Amino acid sequence: MTTRAQVDTLSKAQRQAVTLAQREMRQLWESIGNLSPEWQRDLLLDEVPALARKYGDIAATAAAEWYEQTRAQSVGGTYEALTADSFSDEAVQASIRYKAGSLFGDDPSALSGFLAASLQRWVMYSGRQTIARNAEHDPMHPRYARVPTGARTCAFCGMLASRGFVYYTESSAGGDFHKYHNECDCQVVPEWDGKTSHITGYDPDALYSQYLQAREGLGGNPDVTAILANIRRLFPNDYTDGVKTAS
Ligand SMILES: [Zn+2]
Repeated sequence: MTTRAQVDTLSKAQRQAVTLAQREMRQLWESIGNLSPEWQRDLLLDEVPALARKYGDIAATAAAEWYEQTRAQSVGGTYEALTADSFSDEAVQASIRYKAGSLFGDDPSALSGFLAASLQRWVMYSGRQTIARNAEHDPMHPRYARVPTGARTCAFCGMLASRGFVYYTESSAGGDFHKYHNECDCQVVPEWDGKTSHITGYDPDALYSQYLQAREGLGGNPDVTAILANIRRLFPNDYTDGVKTAS
């Protein structure tokens, strides 16, 4: 069975890769400070995808090692984990182009903040994909879940985490499951042992009952956006984006 301590180990390794990536991003940013906006943009288009790749590969390697160790502790035997590809260069470049206008405006540093936050998601992508791909290829067929790791979680991640441990395939995990916002600390976590969660602090049943309450409270057939808004209203203190009303 997979424990909170194991999830913390995975989470820590992923965070380390992100920290190193963001440090190198800051150095890159400082090194281009005196160049023209056009030069800055072109250099970022070259260099940032390389950073996402370099540290994504580190995150993927750490996730693959973690998968092997955790699997050995759960079911014994050996298994050679694969590493997933890094976030695509084209997608990274599209994000940079989309935000590059701020280099030409009053607040170029807005782009720096955006890149640091996005780099977190791009690097984490490689680790999460590595776990998901292995869970799908592993002959022992673990289920996997999206497990929050921070003190509190947004309603969107809570909803996905409420599904608990499920068999996913590349297609069935489609839709929202592999969508992550910047700064999201959720991990993809495999479980080889039954359907129950043994991870302290992760209670998918409780999350799911909040989801149902929010859905049923609306009546009819509400869409996900409406359900999430209702979760934020009904349980303002349980979610980072809960709606606090003045009383
Ligand atoms: Zn999350």
